[in-house]
Amino acid sequence: MSREPLIDGHGRSIRDVRVSVTDRCNFRCQYCMPAEGLPWLERDGVLRFEEIERIVRVLVEMGVTDVRLTGGEPLVRRDFPVLARMMAGIEGLEDLSLTTNGYLLERDADALADAGIRRLNVSIDSLQNDRFFEMTRRDSLPQVLRGLEAVARRPELAPVKVNAVAMRGFTEQEVLPFAQFAREGSFQVRFIEFMPLDGDRGWTPDQVLTGDELRKIVHAVHPLEECPREPSATARTFRFADGRGHIGFINPISEPFCSDCNRIRLTADGKLRTCLFSMHETDLRTPLRDGADDDELEWIVRDAVWRKELKHRVGEKGFRQPARSMSAIGG
Ligand code: SF4
Repeated sequence: MSREPLIDGHGRSIRDVRVSVTDRCNFRCQYCMPAEGLPWLERDGVLRFEEIERIVRVLVEMGVTDVRLTGGEPLVRRDFPVLARMMAGIEGLEDLSLTTNGYLLERDADALADAGIRRLNVSIDSLQNDRFFEMTRRDSLPQVLRGLEAVARRPELAPVKVNAVAMRGFTEQEVLPFAQFAREGSFQVRFIEFMPLDGDRGWTPDQVLTGDELRKIVHAVHPLEECPREPSATARTFRFADGRGHIGFINPISEPFCSDCNRIRLTADGKLRTCLFSMHETDLRTPLRDGADDDELEWIVRDAVWRKELKHRVGEKGFRQPARSMSAIGG
């Protein structure tokens, strides 16, 4: 069944939904979560697989084509490949991808490929054991790299992008090792500017190491040429001038890309977020569990999306960090 396309109040078509399947995570990354973790969502408050499937199916009927499964860490959710297979079975869903910290990829790579996952973003902030530990508070780099090897054995799971959050005073030393990693391997590396979505609520503008600063460090050693930007893309992508791979920069703070944003988000507890930095959410779980039919769900979504924010206001007077942190929103 197809429905009218989902359009926001600024005329932007919504084609992409990020679905957080859990707020739980097995890492404690400094830019995301306090060392002691966060109070997790009550289990019965978390959407069941069939509930996620239903909401996503209605969104796909409204023209959403891309679904990214995120967390917390999605692979810690029990039977995750079952959910992935349910998503892959939705008619009209064109692109099913996953964001993961990679720790469980060695275990799950085959199940994910068989279930229908087609693209992966793997979050790795350092290629050095001690610095990886420093940032994630987990001594797990070898395990994550074995996960990448397992993924590389399944050609269906491509492209694989390695995302590193850029932190001033830390990432400067990681840039060239990551550039070399991108030049040698089959993985595209992207740096993401640090955003005010951390659980510690300690973000300050001076901690942001901009994409432009990082690009200049790489370009000075490995000349770069910019690739044309895809519509609604979050990254500025560059190819190495000598043809050895690509590297990207996601700059939501220094170069916001909100003008053609086509994304909405569904939290693990069934809240619709129309922007990463939304200060309000729309509850889909309650109407869903109260017996709302698909048409009612459609109108709740349409009403919320019509009021989707034009852009984020980070750096503007009056900007407030959302109550929900990145781990409970999903990348
Ligand atoms: S900050 Fe909000 S409006 Fe801007 S690109 Fe991200 S989700 Fe879209």
